[in-house]
Amino acid sequence: MANIDIHAHVFPRVARAEAEAADPRAPWLADHGDGTGHIMQGNERFRPVEAQLWDARQRLSWMDEAALDIQFVCATPVMFGYTWPVARAAPWAARMNDRMLEYCAADPRRLKALAQVPLQDVDAACREVTQAKAAGHIGVQIGNHVGPASLDDPGLLDFLRHCAMERMPVLVHPWDMMGDGRMKKWMLPWLVAMPAETQLSILSLVLSGAFERLPRELALVFAHGGGSFAWLLGRVDNAWRHRDIVREDCPQLPSSYCDRFHVDSAIFSPGALRLLVDTMGPSRVMLGTDAPFPLGEQEPGALVSTVYAAEPATREAILHGNARRVFGLD
Ligand SMILES: [Zn+2]
Repeated sequence: MANIDIHAHVFPRVARAEAEAADPRAPWLADHGDGTGHIMQGNERFRPVEAQLWDARQRLSWMDEAALDIQFVCATPVMFGYTWPVARAAPWAARMNDRMLEYCAADPRRLKALAQVPLQDVDAACREVTQAKAAGHIGVQIGNHVGPASLDDPGLLDFLRHCAMERMPVLVHPWDMMGDGRMKKWMLPWLVAMPAETQLSILSLVLSGAFERLPRELALVFAHGGGSFAWLLGRVDNAWRHRDIVREDCPQLPSSYCDRFHVDSAIFSPGALRLLVDTMGPSRVMLGTDAPFPLGEQEPGALVSTVYAAEPATREAILHGNARRVFGLD
């Protein structure tokens, strides 16, 4: 049982009064006392949730059943607070990061925390990364944009440089999904816009030439298998070859930048996993489940173990070896 899951969420037991004191938009937890609850915003139910989101003991017994040795936990994106004034978002991020470490204290060897930061203010975000590393976080999770600022925004690039300097890997998670009113039902924002958000973030870095300027030490990981990226990379390379406006800021073929970032394995299809591993290389894909949410992998590692049953080196790299190396667990 050596599997390491690099993408899982927590939501601490935040009381309503505590949330309201932090910001009117801050989320809080309604614990129904029967193993279920709701993430709330004000009087509104944001999402039904289960206790392992705030109860580490329940998480650990689920990990035992799921044969997961180690899980990296990070904020549920509704906790980010990127639209709040930084004077509120910075102390909130610090408090949520403390709560995550308290959660992981139930078994610090098996539960590792990725910090959150007030990304709307680069200086405050950098300070929080430094603080979080000193406190015991092994990396940081960020949302894939701050309003109209995509990952190639100069301030966000400064933040990424700071993370590289601190040797803090960055998990990029889609959130605040694009849409113009046509995705009201059937979880379409999760099924259509989330993979597109991640594709947009990766291409923002590639086509802006940002990877030419970012240090190689930066460890970037994109959630959900990089969204639409692997499937559409041929289209992007073709556009780069045939249209000068695509090449304008990007000196190398887009697919040549695949050695600058990593992805998780949360894509749920054998064919898609093979394409992803063929595209990124076996050293750049890591087990990620999105637990404990229903859109996550219900049997952690089953897809990877099945697809690579006859290729033990690739299987073990994806299930734990890459995570150990990238997040410096050894
Ligand atoms: Zn997630």
